[in-house]
Amino acid sequence: MAYNGFTLKRKKLKFWLAKPHQTEPQFLAWERDYPDLVALDSVTQYAGFKAYAITVADRSTPTDRKAKLIFAVPHAHEPAGTVGCMHYLNQLLTGKHFDETPSDLDRDRILANCVLSFIPDANPDGRSRTPVDYWDGTQYTNEEFWAFMRGRDAETKRMWKRLGRWSSREENPETIGVVYEQINAREYVEPNRDLNSSYFRLIQRIGARYGYGRWLDIHQTEFERSPHNCMMLLPLVQNELPQEIQQINVEWAAAIVDAWAAIGANPVRPSKPLGYKGEQAEYFRRVWREFMPIIPQITTEVQNNNAQTPPGQQAQLQEIAIRVSVDEAIKSTV
Ligand SMILES: [Zn+2]
Repeated sequence: MAYNGFTLKRKKLKFWLAKPHQTEPQFLAWERDYPDLVALDSVTQYAGFKAYAITVADRSTPTDRKAKLIFAVPHAHEPAGTVGCMHYLNQLLTGKHFDETPSDLDRDRILANCVLSFIPDANPDGRSRTPVDYWDGTQYTNEEFWAFMRGRDAETKRMWKRLGRWSSREENPETIGVVYEQINAREYVEPNRDLNSSYFRLIQRIGARYGYGRWLDIHQTEFERSPHNCMMLLPLVQNELPQEIQQINVEWAAAIVDAWAAIGANPVRPSKPLGYKGEQAEYFRRVWREFMPIIPQITTEVQNNNAQTPPGQQAQLQEIAIRVSVDEAIKSTV
């Protein structure tokens, strides 16, 4: 049960870097230790936190023919994506895991063929407000978890609304959900629903510089009453995209799903387009159509807040998705 020597371990991950006080010093250390490989970009959030994009590229060889990928984690209540990025980055830069054991990652091949950008946590404001480091399903029910995610409704005491942008002049949740990023004295946004978020500000900045060929969005969901614990989503607009891009999305998603199955996870098959309808679909269409470059782009969903998928496995499933994405991109450039 392995993907290129990578097996799913049951044991707890010792190094869980998810909150800004854990990730930021690591970004700065990598920049200091690997100045020839690492470029950091950051935007400062209204709450004062810096959201980072970290780009790894060997600039001693020309980058124009290299595969260019971006990996991004927009949601604060989905920390395993952040941890997956941090573990992958550490192996890529140091050749080792955080515990100093050697990594099997083919560092030279990746650096020779790729420019890789990561936004491991696009909303440290929200992440810093989460009550736990990870959601393992033992401390909070999904109802409780969702009330942390979107905030608590003052009347029902249950999960508050999902809004792309809202103002405290008109809205009055009892608590402010961690999914939201405060962007000024009154307004809050969900990062992947509003172009003023740190997520989109970072993507716009580095996107203009590097010109990505593939984009992996990294998410988690609960898979309530489902035997499955991971899936790949194709874009909402999949069926409207150029044929060639549709095909890359399908093949790329299938490669990740196959790797997940090979290490013993239980992915949903086949991968389908994001299923939002009505208002939610309109958000996506508007935001993404206005802004999205037309490139292959798919989304991971790994189970959150369920004992069936402990935190270490959540992060490993995200790391595998990153590994497969890089392998697939290299294959398509040679
Ligand atoms: Zn998400």
